[in-house]
Amino acid sequence: MTTIPQTPHRVTRPASLTDAFLEGLVARVPSTSGGTWKLTEVYTGEHLVDLPQSTPADIEQAYAAARAAQREWAAWPLAKRLAVFKRAHTLLVDNAHTTADLIQAESGKNRRMAIEETCDPPMVISHYLKRAPKVLAPTKRGGPVPFLSSSTEIRQPKGVVGIIAPWNFPFATGLSDAVAALIAGNGVVLKPDNKTALSPLYGISLLEQAGLPKGLFQVVCGEGPDVGPTLIDHANYVMFTGSTATGRVIGERAGRNLIGCCLELGGKNPMIVLDDVDVDEWVAGTLFGVFGNTGQICMHIERIYLPDSRYDELKAAFVAATEKLRIGAAYDFGPELGSLVSVDHMRRVQGHVEDAVAKGATVVTGGKPRPDLGPAFFEPTVLEGVTTDMVCGVTETFGPVVALHRYRTVDEAVALANDTDYGLNASVWGRDISRAEAVARRIEAGNVNVNDALATAYASKGTPSGGVKQSGVGARHGDQGLLKYTDVQNLAVLKKQVMMPRPGQDYEDHVKGMLSGLKMMRRTGIR
Ligand code: NAD
Repeated sequence: MTTIPQTPHRVTRPASLTDAFLEGLVARVPSTSGGTWKLTEVYTGEHLVDLPQSTPADIEQAYAAARAAQREWAAWPLAKRLAVFKRAHTLLVDNAHTTADLIQAESGKNRRMAIEETCDPPMVISHYLKRAPKVLAPTKRGGPVPFLSSSTEIRQPKGVVGIIAPWNFPFATGLSDAVAALIAGNGVVLKPDNKTALSPLYGISLLEQAGLPKGLFQVVCGEGPDVGPTLIDHANYVMFTGSTATGRVIGERAGRNLIGCCLELGGKNPMIVLDDVDVDEWVAGTLFGVFGNTGQICMHIERIYLPDSRYDELKAAFVAATEKLRIGAAYDFGPELGSLVSVDHMRRVQGHVEDAVAKGATVVTGGKPRPDLGPAFFEPTVLEGVTTDMVCGVTETFGPVVALHRYRTVDEAVALANDTDYGLNASVWGRDISRAEAVARRIEAGNVNVNDALATAYASKGTPSGGVKQSGVGARHGDQGLLKYTDVQNLAVLKKQVMMPRPGQDYEDHVKGMLSGLKMMRRTGIR
């Protein structure tokens, strides 16, 4: 096993992160109890700011304020609402570096990934600026009586949407899902993870600079089980991103309240490499697919199936490239890998590796914490011999750990890829695109990327993206990602009452007319 080289560094916190700036950001989080949570810089473990913790009464108050602002917001013409987001797009892009400073400080990810994350809300905004006028426009359809009746599908906002976001992409999940809800005319109450509340708070301040009415977008903070129930009980719809275990809790509560929810959950994402793969392209794409965001991407790859005929060659190329990855703590673009989000999470990842090794797996490279780099660093790790009796054989690890497997036939590879409770993302690689696409269609996953690991699917904002099986319910992006935040009103108009018997008409006569009308409508296609 080779020692991964480290980037020599001295962590210098960015000048933008002054105490006054951070205290200003958290000042909008309500806390009548005065309780706080110590938010720390991941690279050093140093205290950044005290994050107020909201009580159930604070959350009720936040909903009341959002609801009052929402009534006015929903009455704005869509073009006026969209103008806010057009200005917000510019502000979000112009302030990407300050956003990245915050994302890095609170999550420990590397600069490259933090900057990529800042691009997500502008991409979602760009898509819906073009698409929302068409998707949200009333659609007139025929009614039951040709020419004399009509039915119009009107999209009404649901009211106030509760959003619960995870720590791995706090800015993207805190803002992008809210953007769609707001464009559809809703208010939002967001609960970010305590660890990563700063970047979404900053993003919201930029939306308000762009003209989003004050009060419409509320933020409450607290540990999930403490604030979750009140947050869900006052929402008209819940958008949740996080683990499958928590998703089940959220879904149950939303179901009890008879409100809709979208659950974007975990994965144990497979990659199938076909025997005609271009090795250089595959290695470059797979390094990002496995180790991007230090393996803390819901769509990242944790299982790789390599063809027997090229196993040794592909393994050697991937492991050599893994061992060259630069890992370190720095607020510049040097490191290719950053830290894990916390010491607790690092221990969990380490536990998965140790469990696998105890049950017979082999560490090909990596496998150890790197306290010399920071408190929560863990080496990029490649395992062999992982089986389904090991925790990491079946459960999402959510760290820089991947298992290599050998397959003999493509049918066997597809069966192995599908042998999981999850179904979030998958990847298939091969030079023959139609062959790779045919394999991709056989994988049970909401997203499948051909010749890429995950970014192509996630960045296609026009197509709904979500999980199947235990990886989720519903989707974000695409028309569905906007329409889910609306209720349909079926506005039906009958110009003249002809659906009842005419005065004095015999009922049998009326039925005869009705039945022949049905035949005529089918023949002519008139509805
Ligand atoms: P988590 O489920 O522990 O927490 C997610 C959010 O839910 C946090 O804000 C947390 O405070 C809150 N929460 C926890 N318990 C709660 C409860 N009982 N009621 C209400 N809220 C509660 O997940 P995590 O560890 O923060 O995030 C990592 C997970 O998120 C991984 O499983 C990853 O795959 C998943 N994820 C999925 C997607 C996707 O789009 N499918 C995207 C990002 C992350």
